[in-house]
Amino acid sequence: MEPKYLKPGWMNWAGSIILSILLVVIGLVVLIAGNPGTGITLIILGIIIILMVVVKRATWTYVYNDMYVETRKGIISKKTSQIDLKDVKNIQFKQSIFERIFGLGTVAFASAATGSIEVAFAGIPDAQKVKQEIDGLIHSVKSGTAGTKKCPQCAELVKNEAIKCRYCGYEFEQQ
Ligand SMILES: [Zn+2]
Repeated sequence: MEPKYLKPGWMNWAGSIILSILLVVIGLVVLIAGNPGTGITLIILGIIIILMVVVKRATWTYVYNDMYVETRKGIISKKTSQIDLKDVKNIQFKQSIFERIFGLGTVAFASAATGSIEVAFAGIPDAQKVKQEIDGLIHSVKSGTAGTKKCPQCAELVKNEAIKCRYCGYEFEQQ
């Protein structure tokens, strides 16, 4: 399975975004009111804050596939945390009041090794759906059915790449 990449929702930085809009608006008012020095300073400050949000979100990635879950953070030094799906002890859906307002949620993964949360997809859209999908992936890894598909003719499990069922000879449609 190709890895899927997720980003936190913009509204994780709602405070910074509102602040930068305020700074730009106030800066424009001050500028028009006849104080260009202060006005332009406020506008630049607002732009810097929004750029910081853009950079932070761009360097913040959540990855999952049928083998692992992973978070990547950081601009210069990348900090990566990963847990193998077979080592996930439990998976939790969390939602702060703030996240609920903006339709975001957090999916957190505890590893069997430490029992504590080591990977968290914080502030993502459709968090419930992502949790369900990863729940399914973990289930298939732990039950040994990962990377397989069910033959529609004999209901046996064969490898995803198979073009012909090894039990009954059913030929799968080529993709
Ligand atoms: Zn078959």
